[in-house]
Amino acid sequence: MNNPYVTIVIPCYNEEDVLEDTLQQLGQLLENMIEDSMVAPASDLLFVDDGSKDNTWDILEMSKYSFVKGLKLTRNSGHQNALYAGLMAAKDQADCVISIDADLQDDINAIPKMIEKYMLGNEIVYGVRSKRDTDTFFKRTTALGFYRFMNKIGIDLVENHADFRLMSSRALHELSNYKEQNLFLRGLVPLIGLPSSTVAYERKERKAGESKYPLKKMLSFAFDGITSFSVAPIRLVTMIGLLSVILSSAAGLYALTQKFLGHTESGWTSLIISIWLIGGLQLLGIGLLGEYIGKIFTEVKRRPKYAIEIDKYTKKNTVFPSV
Ligand code: UDP
Ligand code: MG
Repeated sequence: MNNPYVTIVIPCYNEEDVLEDTLQQLGQLLENMIEDSMVAPASDLLFVDDGSKDNTWDILEMSKYSFVKGLKLTRNSGHQNALYAGLMAAKDQADCVISIDADLQDDINAIPKMIEKYMLGNEIVYGVRSKRDTDTFFKRTTALGFYRFMNKIGIDLVENHADFRLMSSRALHELSNYKEQNLFLRGLVPLIGLPSSTVAYERKERKAGESKYPLKKMLSFAFDGITSFSVAPIRLVTMIGLLSVILSSAAGLYALTQKFLGHTESGWTSLIISIWLIGGLQLLGIGLLGEYIGKIFTEVKRRPKYAIEIDKYTKKNTVFPSV
């Protein structure tokens, strides 16, 4: 195999604080890889500006590297959609694509290792965090709990893998056949089932700027992941409902016998408790059903996941001017 045309896709949302540093580091790395003939000279960096409200796009335009390219989305579409926009743009052009976050929390030195594994015949190479010391205790424990839970309910996630991965053009074409609206890439990619491998790296701290994943977004991301992939939660509610019906019938039977035997119970406490319990269960069940109906609602609309305002990647002569 010849050295591959590699596109590195970087979704960016309001990343002006880190972007110059990121450009510098990734630019240097790509330059070295081209020099060492590890990758084809046409290889490039594709920044996807996810509707940033700061100077993200201007910084990209001022880059000194001619291999810096960009896609500007019309509005903020979310990390997963922005990443997907980049992947879909690159799938017909590059031999393989590596996705990485703009804050470079993921170690860019893992990139050459990913390419080596790709050259050995892997269509997907997952970056896996070997250490999460730099994440807060809270983020670490919730993440661990999340992976465990997901695996328990039958969703195979690669543990400690986020969206730092290499995918071949073939794998990307397979990915494009998954037509769902609610993207949860780290759950979808393992479903493709092509030969894959992992590369371990240490995750660093975000250098500047803020995490775009505050607790609220993290929770909704986790919930999306679960409800997009599994009906296990609904089944669980059904089981709990069934169990509570059996238990309350037994309790009812007991109360009736007591009554016939003449030991009448005052009954108030048990009544109140069961009303609350059943009421709660019903609400839980309805809520969960609502989640899935909501998913159906968004799926049937088949809205586009993103729209591209400016394409400086797939069209000719559209690289940013050098300064
Ligand atoms: N991001 C994006 N659109 C969004 C939110 C985030 O493109 O609506 C990008 C962001 O610029 C970064 C990546 O997604 O490159 C991951 O975000 P972040 O680093 O804030 O997440 P964390 O590492 O805290 O999970
Ligand atoms: Mg980050």
